[in-house]
Amino acid sequence: MRFEIVTIFPGFFSSIFEHGIVRRALSEGLAAVNTYDLRAFTHDRHRTVDDRPFGGGEGMVLKPEPLAEALTALGVAPKAERTGSSANQGAGEPCKDGADRLAPTTRVILLSAQGRPFTQVLARELAGLDRVMLICGRYEGVDERINELYCDLELSIGDYVLSGGELAAAVVVDAVVRLIPGVLGNQASAEFESFGVLDSEIAPEIGAKVDAGLDADRKPAPRSQHGSGGLLDYPHYTRPAEFAGLHVPEVLINGDHGQIRRWRRQQQLRKTLLNRPDLLENAELSAEDRRVLDAIQQKRRE
Ligand code: SAM
Repeated sequence: MRFEIVTIFPGFFSSIFEHGIVRRALSEGLAAVNTYDLRAFTHDRHRTVDDRPFGGGEGMVLKPEPLAEALTALGVAPKAERTGSSANQGAGEPCKDGADRLAPTTRVILLSAQGRPFTQVLARELAGLDRVMLICGRYEGVDERINELYCDLELSIGDYVLSGGELAAAVVVDAVVRLIPGVLGNQASAEFESFGVLDSEIAPEIGAKVDAGLDADRKPAPRSQHGSGGLLDYPHYTRPAEFAGLHVPEVLINGDHGQIRRWRRQQQLRKTLLNRPDLLENAELSAEDRRVLDAIQQKRRE
């Protein structure tokens, strides 16, 4: 999978991907990140990429011409010219008829505070693609015609305003790369975490691997983890069992994986109710989950 980042600050990315999981994925060739300096697609002495906004107002806007030229150089045609199916075509290669088209496994993304929220569901979708282009805005943003003409998706990483799209692009690369099959040493890690899938959606071989690891006799054992099904993760603890007068919850050391699993589900529900009650609206909840939530709410009212 290849990321192509268009930015006025390519140096921003020189060390950000040199750590941990992303570094390993890049060095093992499971993903690649190329950066493109927007100023290389200008033609004036000052390598101008911005101009004043029409209609007046604060700040500057990234001009459309250098961005359009950069995208053309990367093999991206305006959306209106990307005709027909290109399933057998390499990403960004010219079509037989001469027009550039994008493979269905390519997306052109504009990072923008006005965009659709970036979620784990979207990160999973992007991890299945071959090529993701990320356009980083600066100043007041990017001339809207670039969005209209070229972008498949306008994407926001959260409800706040950054000074540029570079941090947002790095966030997208990080969140997506760790979901590419083979990147995480233990694929189960990506299955059992916040915003994860339902138990029933966890690949049987991964569930079985987790179960097998839990049972010393390698007999089927109750799994101690739940797929979060869109909820937040449960709290994690490690040694020492007592720290600063606080003890690890007893249930986690008694070795009963059924009990541990139930406790973890209750904690997922509790954390989600406290910190992200909005996530409960779309979560698939069992009758037992609802009972737990009612009990937590009842306790809070007392
Ligand atoms: N005028 C814009 C607005 O109010 O929505 C903010 C522009 S911001 C200062 C400059 C650039 O940072 C944007 O063009 C975008 O690329 C990036 N950016 C800012 N906040 C972002 C966010 N929450 N998610 C993704 N990109 C963001």
